[in-house]
Amino acid sequence: MSPVRSFIDVPVDHDFPIQNLPYGVFETKSGNRPCVAIGDFILDLATLESEGLLQTEQKFFSGDTLNAFMEGGPTAWKAVRSRLQELLSSESDELRDDGDLKSRTLHDMPSVRMVLPASIGDYTDFYSSREHATNVGTMFRGADNALMENWLHLPVGYHGRASSIIVSGTDVHRPKGQLKPENEPPVHAPSKLLDFELEMGFFVGPGNQLGYPIDIQDAEDHIFGFVLVNDWSARDIQKWEYVPLGPFLGKSFATTISPWIVTLDALEPFRCAGPPQDPAPLPYLNGSENGAFDIVLEVGIQTPSMSEPSIVCQSNFKYLYWSAAQQLAHHTVNGCNTRPGDLMASGTISGSTPDSYGSMLELSWRGSKPLSLSNGEERKFIQDEDQVIISGYAQGPDYRIGFGEAAGTLRPAR
Ligand code: CA
Repeated sequence: MSPVRSFIDVPVDHDFPIQNLPYGVFETKSGNRPCVAIGDFILDLATLESEGLLQTEQKFFSGDTLNAFMEGGPTAWKAVRSRLQELLSSESDELRDDGDLKSRTLHDMPSVRMVLPASIGDYTDFYSSREHATNVGTMFRGADNALMENWLHLPVGYHGRASSIIVSGTDVHRPKGQLKPENEPPVHAPSKLLDFELEMGFFVGPGNQLGYPIDIQDAEDHIFGFVLVNDWSARDIQKWEYVPLGPFLGKSFATTISPWIVTLDALEPFRCAGPPQDPAPLPYLNGSENGAFDIVLEVGIQTPSMSEPSIVCQSNFKYLYWSAAQQLAHHTVNGCNTRPGDLMASGTISGSTPDSYGSMLELSWRGSKPLSLSNGEERKFIQDEDQVIISGYAQGPDYRIGFGEAAGTLRPAR
């Protein structure tokens, strides 16, 4: 990793050092603009680009989303990252000593509102944690039949709903739907079993043409970067509706993502092997042995009577059985096309120990073991006015690649 330092002071445990530079989009009076995070500031990429300071041949940042830049691919991503590190370096006076340029491009992070980073055409949610799939299977089918026969052969997934993806900080309302009380006819009522799912997701960069699968060896060239994801889930709606076609309204009412997209270039030092895969995957899924990343993940619940969240889960992205490259190769193996800005979520990321389970369903074992929070309150599922906060970071020797947070407060049904 380059020993580069920024002229902007960034503490060693801060999420956004110069080694990170995650991309997002912020709101201005004249429209939304792409930016990167550096310390407690955001740097306006639209202004830098319009003044020729990014030195790119193509205009990537004049729109109100990151889709054009996502489509640019790894060559453009590396060139812009390298130029931004140069501009923000303590060694360079270009931005550092230009007070006027700084005042026009650097803004205090708390003073801006972040919005969705991309126009998301399609959203797919995988189910790639063996521990999560085993826990859920054990609860619903028993330990002997926990994993379905296909699970170890392919990354199971379903098509989610892109329209209800929301950025961190947006409220979520408890959904109403059909619930089926035991031995009684179904009723229309607010969900009683509202849950979070700790996930990460990647944004597709350049897509693939209809009919042309993405080879697993090329898959990462199609991955722009990662965000934190909370796949809010209404367990009672889900339980009644999911047979035989899978998740539907129990999921599609809201999916929260973090505003900052951390690139594969920033995550490269944290690449590692995922869990061993046995049976060996079919050849089209073979070749991403080092496709995992060591990213510490945490879920906190903050109830109205708390001043800070109570941590209920600590997990890690590297626990996932199927890698992002395998997910993308599998998604397109039938010729299905993907487009810049498509979001692919990982599925709930649970570890092997009970404190690493990534949902209330698992943490409270279907409501049978209430969870004690730090202030003595108990939860089986999420209650109205609780805030759920997902955070994550990769820890380097003297810097941290952080993701910020994906937070949302549950409001009453309406
Ligand atoms: Ca999910």
